[in-house]
Amino acid sequence: MLGMRKKDLQIRTLKINKKIYSEGYSILNFGNASILDQKRETFFIKASGSDIETCVLKNMVEVNLKKFSSDKKKQIKPSVDTIIHLELYKYLKNVNCIIHTHSEYSTIISQSNIEPECFGTTHADYFYGKIPISDKIRIVDKKNYEFQVAQSITKKLKRLNNYCPGILLRDHGLFTWGKTEKDAFNNLVAIEYICKLYFKTKYLIKKPKISKSLSNFHFSRKHGKNKYYGQT
Ligand SMILES: [Zn+2]
Repeated sequence: MLGMRKKDLQIRTLKINKKIYSEGYSILNFGNASILDQKRETFFIKASGSDIETCVLKNMVEVNLKKFSSDKKKQIKPSVDTIIHLELYKYLKNVNCIIHTHSEYSTIISQSNIEPECFGTTHADYFYGKIPISDKIRIVDKKNYEFQVAQSITKKLKRLNNYCPGILLRDHGLFTWGKTEKDAFNNLVAIEYICKLYFKTKYLIKKPKISKSLSNFHFSRKHGKNKYYGQT
């Protein structure tokens, strides 16, 4: 039996997984979301291969951040992407929710292997410069594929020096995150929307150009040292 706190975490994990599906950011059994407890010990994630429409509470599987191994005895296996979530939680110390989707525009851009440049202030409110894309995987490590994917993300993040609400997973889709499931979901909505704006803007003009002064200003009023956007 799960304690009250874990039960609550499991319920919230089911809700956020249902939400990304019901709001159209995920189809069939693609995508998954996880929530990590405040002590950063345990997270819950969708079970492997489960169709979110029919998912119930028991399909949200508990994973120990420190002692995870692919435990074959577990009745329900966690998502195949569990190791990616786990490695991201280890790296992103302020993050308690991670969402992975194959949402339309983010996936179009990531499988085009493009790092979208900043064309406007909507983008600048979320990213300093381009939306990052994870490193290319040229030869798959068949025994450790998911760990290899995690590294293709964390290695890229280490080279960035700014607030970053998510990353395009090259040839694949999108990862977003946040302090809470609300933050992570809002980042998913925003990044998918920014990718859509990027795609459509490209139709109108080959090289749109926002000034560095304007894009830097928008980023720093939300995320810079002297940020002043929103309520304190
Ligand atoms: Zn995927």
